[in-house]
Amino acid sequence: MIVLTKVDEAHQWVIARRDQGLSIGFVPTMGALHQGHISLVERAADENDIVVVSIFVNPIQFNNKEDLLKYPRDLEKDLLRLSGKGCTMVFSPSTEEMYPEEVKEQYDFGPLEKVMEGAFREGHFNGVAVVVKRLFEILLPDRAYFGEKDFQQLRIIQRLTEITKLPVEIIPCAIYREDDGLAMSSRNQRLDPEERKRAPIIYKTLSYIKAHKEEKLSDLLERASHQLNAVEGMRLEYLLIADLETLQPIDHLREDGPAAGIFVAVYLGQIRLIDNMFLNS
Ligand code: AMP
Repeated sequence: MIVLTKVDEAHQWVIARRDQGLSIGFVPTMGALHQGHISLVERAADENDIVVVSIFVNPIQFNNKEDLLKYPRDLEKDLLRLSGKGCTMVFSPSTEEMYPEEVKEQYDFGPLEKVMEGAFREGHFNGVAVVVKRLFEILLPDRAYFGEKDFQQLRIIQRLTEITKLPVEIIPCAIYREDDGLAMSSRNQRLDPEERKRAPIIYKTLSYIKAHKEEKLSDLLERASHQLNAVEGMRLEYLLIADLETLQPIDHLREDGPAAGIFVAVYLGQIRLIDNMFLNS
């Protein structure tokens, strides 16, 4: 496993492999790697000749300065975690390397970015789109792997490849959870032990809603919202059911209706957590 930090070096490295006819799988991350990330890396290794993992805490996708400053960073530990998992090259650039000049690109994702994360985190998805497009252009992957944990991000990236016509296949990957149901996240390590004990209520609430989806949705969501807000230190930002294609909220589920999912964002103490669950499977 080789580690490269320069854009030109990484680009040339990838071009040399492409010239040999090797297929490239790419897993973009912000580091603080956990088993959820590794599951994407292992899948990429199964489906491609070589695997590139980027580790870059992208400042322009953070709408909250404190969150950016406190985002966990430990490259040595990440490299240890990646070893033996099928990763061929790690691309770990500095901010100056990725953004030598002021970023001016502005994307319009329409209704997809107006809801959920887009509504609560201004500029977040533009920052995500800018960095992912640059990474795609540098690393020229055949396939890129994104977790359904960040489902709205996945839909935005699918739209980005349509808009930009970049020839990358976007591969959605299932959410990887702890044994108690908590979706794995780099931010989980910032929960204190008491908060960590309370966090699985998020998964339990999603499961409860799914089990009761025949009921009137507005009542069900209201009850579930109360339950989450009643947890010590927890504050609900949104809890809604949305169309998986358009991400627009749905009031009624129908047998012949579009595939739908439940989406949630909460603060637990200072830490913001998101999760989701598909309703149709
Ligand atoms: P991040 O480092 O948080 O930007 O995540 C990098 C990639 O890993 C994104 O595509 C995430 O959706 C994905 N990911 C993060 N957590 C999980 C998880 N628990 N299960 C599956 N994929 C995940």
